[in-house]
Amino acid sequence: MSNPAPFGQRPPALRVLDASVPATPILAGRVLLHEHSRFIPRQREAIDSDLGGVVMTGDNAETRAFKLRTEAGFTGTMLIDSAPYTTYAATEDEPFLLPKDQMFATLDDTLGFQKAAGASAALTPTGYIAPGASKPLKAVIRAAQRIERVDTVVTLPVDVTWLGNERVGQLIAACKRINQPKALVLVGQFDPLKYAKVIPANLRRVISDVEDMMMLRTDLAALDVMVHGALCAGIGVSSSVRHSVPPGERAAVNDPKGPVYPNVLMPELMCFKGAKGLANRYANTEPTTCLCEVCNGRGLDRFFRTDGETRVEAEDHNVLTWSTWVGEMAGYEGGPKRKSWWQEKCAAAINRYALENQRIGLSARRGFQPPPPLEAWATLPVS
Ligand SMILES: [Zn+2]
Repeated sequence: MSNPAPFGQRPPALRVLDASVPATPILAGRVLLHEHSRFIPRQREAIDSDLGGVVMTGDNAETRAFKLRTEAGFTGTMLIDSAPYTTYAATEDEPFLLPKDQMFATLDDTLGFQKAAGASAALTPTGYIAPGASKPLKAVIRAAQRIERVDTVVTLPVDVTWLGNERVGQLIAACKRINQPKALVLVGQFDPLKYAKVIPANLRRVISDVEDMMMLRTDLAALDVMVHGALCAGIGVSSSVRHSVPPGERAAVNDPKGPVYPNVLMPELMCFKGAKGLANRYANTEPTTCLCEVCNGRGLDRFFRTDGETRVEAEDHNVLTWSTWVGEMAGYEGGPKRKSWWQEKCAAAINRYALENQRIGLSARRGFQPPPPLEAWATLPVS
């Protein structure tokens, strides 16, 4: 099987991996940064070459990924997620979205196209799997069973209701019938993990019951799934790439017409907070500071701006912060010790909320509140 060369003459810098190079060892143990192609190509120092990498998504993700390889010289692990599930729902006849502008485009062409653009492994262009859409899910399984290449990850963009008690067993059974690595993307408004109380526990079940599961386009759930046996995970660079919404819906935001400020990962509290909220909370007091390479001891209230430089600085702070945790996690072998480390880390973060609120003189209601998934990770039994 050969990959097409859609970008003309390939520069010598781009080493294209062919379809016989397996995806699994390339991705194992990594937490990737899910980047939006709008702001790329730009190589980030913050990405760890041993434990990290990039997932490129958004408009023209393939072209932008190719530029990241060739113009910016990125040599790390990379996936290309053209995110068809944001516009297309999988059907029984067509579980994958293949390009309509090319006559007779096959799934194999689509996968090869990603590799030719510099992807380390290929992602199937699976459509959104709607609530209870068993037939489209079965069609994905059948199509996956026909894939002969070993460089492919089967994307499963499932509505978050598939992680409810009613459906999770069916989802696990379906995942078990797919031999390739499988990348879950949870689709739902706001944080899908907050959709129902059972979701964090059921997500762990899927990850630990099925081999070679991945989870893309998420937040700190990436660490929870890695601790519980996932092959690989991806954390979104901004809130829009930390989950997905069903085709035809727009991501609901608190102030749709207002300016967009960065989201900041709080190292002690282990949560993402909007820069505006941080500036408000720290208006009359010393802000929390950060010791990462980008912040160098400066306060975390400084991102309340809308310019690109501030956005990139906030993103790099976020990546450096969670990369440190990924590095800590990699220091523990998978299993009980790693699980205990994570549980204790989440529990310690939960305990800091009251302290921080007291320090800045705010009530629990007006100050910081722990996100429910973090509380779940701190309290769910370590199996
Ligand atoms: Zn920092």
